[in-house]
Amino acid sequence: MKNAGLMPCEHTKGHKKICGKGIIEMKKKMLSIMMAALMLLSGCSGGTAQPAANTGTQEPAAPAAPPVMELALEDNRIDDNNRMYYEVFVYAFDDSDGDGIGDLKGLTEKLDYIKDLGCNGIWLMPVNSSTTYHKYDVTDYYAIDKEYGTLEDFQAFLKECDSRGIKVIMDMVLNHSSSEHPWFKEAAEYLKTLAAGQEPDPSVCPYVDYYFFTREEGRNGYAKLQGTDFYYEAQFWEGMPDLNLGCQALRTELEKIMAYWLDMGVGGFRLDAVKEYYTGHPDDNVEVISWIVNYCKSVKEDAYVVGEAWDSKNAIENYYRSGIDSLFNFPFAQSDGIICKDLRKAGDGATGKALAQDIVSYHEMIRNVNDKATDAPFLSNHDTGRISGFLAQDPVKMKFAEAVNILMSGNAFLYYGEELGMVGSVKGFPGKDENKRAPMYWNTRGDGGMAKGSPNMDAVEHKFPPYEEQKTDNASIYNYIRNVIKIRNAFPQIGRGIETVAEEITDGDIVALWKEYEGETILLLMNNSDQEKTIAIPERDGRKLELAAGLGIEGTELQAADGNVTLTAFGVAVLK
Ligand code: CA
Repeated sequence: MKNAGLMPCEHTKGHKKICGKGIIEMKKKMLSIMMAALMLLSGCSGGTAQPAANTGTQEPAAPAAPPVMELALEDNRIDDNNRMYYEVFVYAFDDSDGDGIGDLKGLTEKLDYIKDLGCNGIWLMPVNSSTTYHKYDVTDYYAIDKEYGTLEDFQAFLKECDSRGIKVIMDMVLNHSSSEHPWFKEAAEYLKTLAAGQEPDPSVCPYVDYYFFTREEGRNGYAKLQGTDFYYEAQFWEGMPDLNLGCQALRTELEKIMAYWLDMGVGGFRLDAVKEYYTGHPDDNVEVISWIVNYCKSVKEDAYVVGEAWDSKNAIENYYRSGIDSLFNFPFAQSDGIICKDLRKAGDGATGKALAQDIVSYHEMIRNVNDKATDAPFLSNHDTGRISGFLAQDPVKMKFAEAVNILMSGNAFLYYGEELGMVGSVKGFPGKDENKRAPMYWNTRGDGGMAKGSPNMDAVEHKFPPYEEQKTDNASIYNYIRNVIKIRNAFPQIGRGIETVAEEITDGDIVALWKEYEGETILLLMNNSDQEKTIAIPERDGRKLELAAGLGIEGTELQAADGNVTLTAFGVAVLK
């Protein structure tokens, strides 16, 4: 996907910087002065301040909203495969025609929201024709589901993404199809015609080889094929029969499908359930992933492929042998993952340092297998519940956990609605799948594109306000996460850097990481404690570093003075 020139200030290697650090500092200072002036004004006049330029001849000004602190950072994104991704469930995101179901036109209308949040990648959960609300059971891999719109809507969506520099990766569900897919239906009809003991003949019906059919009883994960004495593999649900990815005819069909979407402008794929391609046979799965990745790159050199292997670090290490770009970082995600576990113990001894060491060793693991591969950190997704549930709806810890996630090297992923602290699995709203995928909380009225959610979803009550209110609240989760993403986008070292623990800096509570990318190094500091910490700004290569960005958990900008930087509780800073 070409989007050169679309970034506000694009710097690629070898290009001369057109906005130097001095200008950033000036911008920052001017912003601080303006903010201070605005605050003074609103403070002195009981909140009904008139803008300074108002001479009194116009109609009275509306009460000034408190200014939202926006870090004045230069956007230094590079147009490559290191991106900030936003995971979208179209069904729940934005409904353009009032039928209560989110759709592609609605999503397209909200692309400026996604861009403004700072994301330049979208993981689109399945949009192909399907029988369910979640659409992980595909009935036609070439079609767009009618609930979501038309192929023209999809193409318009891709075009609008392209014009905003957003790369779209599609959820590619190749482990299984729907039992309503014509391949499966034809195979089932054929098997019904067989006499007892008669073996299926793929030369008569090739689709019998597309799935795993057997007369053997009692196999794990198999379902009965009605009207026959056959069983078929269906690891997740009888409506989703597992595909036989060893079948060459099927591989040829799937290659055509992947090429179809890549040629249309899709930038890559998220591979669903790679562990189940051959359940219990990881080495066979590695071979399947290699085939998919090699094929995609042969069609589109810069295609990005990320796989879902919901498993341990050791298992994921094995899957990196496939040559895949990324595998989702499950060990750091979820309620019992490394980030949330360490954060629950914050301030309770050396957890910040331990977290930094875990990050470094995980990324070493990836590089040792494939130094072209990159991590795909995330905290939550449509299967795991949401961070509000992981961290007892504590906004401070929710914000900090997202900062750790977004500032890790790799392609960071953010599940829609996490920037608002939406509920997905909390007391009174249990973490069943439909609840984990609640409608994007645009406002309290339920209009303006708000979807209704699955009919099986429980009545939802959010603890934190909707976007409409959070966007003007300086201390909101939304504005905090937006500023964290701004930090990520300002420093290429954050997403791409090779990390080492800054042992000389951390007191145990602070996640302190040097991040080096193409000869430039930054120091990332994240205070994993509720205590204020003052750090003496260190030297590197004979030069004293400077505070380049600093964000407090309540949406304040951190300052440096007298050669020190003060990290407020759970504060984050970048020194350069
Ligand atoms: Ca709709």
